[in-house]
Formats: sequence, C-alpha cells, structure tokens
Amino acid sequence: MEYYSTHINKLIEQLSHLPGIGSKSAQRLAFHIMNMPKDQVQQLTGAISGARENVQYCKNCYTLTDKELCPICGNPSRDGKTIMVVENTRDLAAYEKTGKYQGVYHVLHGAISPMLGIGPDDIKLKELMHRLQNDVQEVIIATNSSLEGETTAMYISKLIKPTGIKVTRIASGVPVGGDLEYIDEVTLLRALEGRVELK
Ligand code: ZN
Repeated sequence: MEYYSTHINKLIEQLSHLPGIGSKSAQRLAFHIMNMPKDQVQQLTGAISGARENVQYCKNCYTLTDKELCPICGNPSRDGKTIMVVENTRDLAAYEKTGKYQGVYHVLHGAISPMLGIGPDDIKLKELMHRLQNDVQEVIIATNSSLEGETTAMYISKLIKPTGIKVTRIASGVPVGGDLEYIDEVTLLRALEGRVELK
C-alpha cells in the first residue's frame, strides 16, 4: 500500500485492528474520515479518548460506568438480593432494555475458555464470590449458550452451591451459541422467566 500517504497507511493499519474490520473496511473508513469536515473528526477522536479515559468499572457489579457506582447499583428500588451474572456490559444492556428485570447484575468481562487460555482468574469471578458474602437470595447465570458460556455457568454453579444460595440458569429459549445482545426482548424475557435451578 505504498501508493497511499504514510499517514493514511497508519490510519488504515490502526482501524484494521478493530474487531470485524478487515483491510478493505479499514481502507473505506480511512478514506471516509479523510473526507469528513475537520471538526467532525475532532468530535470523533474526542469521543473515543473521552470514553476510554472516563469510563470505569462499577465498584459493585463491574459494569462500565462513568461513576464509582453504576445507575443500577445506585438505584435503591432495585432488588440487590438477586444478581444476574452476564459476560459483558452489552449483555447487561440487552436485559435492561426489556425493562422487566428488577434485580442487579454482575459483569464477568469474559467467559472461561480453556482453548483461548482464559481461566477463572481472568474474569471477575472472585469479585462475584466476594459479593455473595452479603445478603443474596438468588444468582441467575445468564452467560451465553456458547461452549464458553456453558463452561462458565457450570463452574460458577459449583462454586456457589456450598454457600446454599439459590443458583439458576436462564432457559434455553436463547439459541445455542447465541450472543445475548442479538436476541430480541421477548426471547430474553422468556429465557429469564423459564430459568431453572441448578442442582
Ligand atoms: Zn453496578
């Protein structure tokens, strides 16, 4: 790609590191950015660095948030005794969109995957166990129904069982291998309502 300027090449290279962006898409985006008004480009770069610098983990549920405590954990009308465990903040958002879930969440930021070398210590699992020292009645495991999601669900349920806290798994209304964030709200709610206790 020597026929482009060095700066454009650099931009294309950086963009191609983003998930789902191949070299063709990276080129298309780079040339789109070149044609954008300069103030729009500044808004874009400002939004990227602003989000990266100001967003942090909620100290309770580990979702991504602007404050120490996310709006869900900070809301006294939410049921803090019911914790739904999800893989990432996008899955949390999917359930929040249904507007029907009244409990709180715990965001793992990943799933156990022996293939990818991701173990229990690489996700926010210790943090979940720590929360269970408080008054918790039910842990709803809502990891994806992929191999990694199922492995994680099994691992968590075995870990929690000895505490005597009720552990449930969302029903299989969620298609196998399906990412929660792409599933419609009706299916999500059905999966939540049809959850089964893990024994
Ligand atoms: Zn929170």
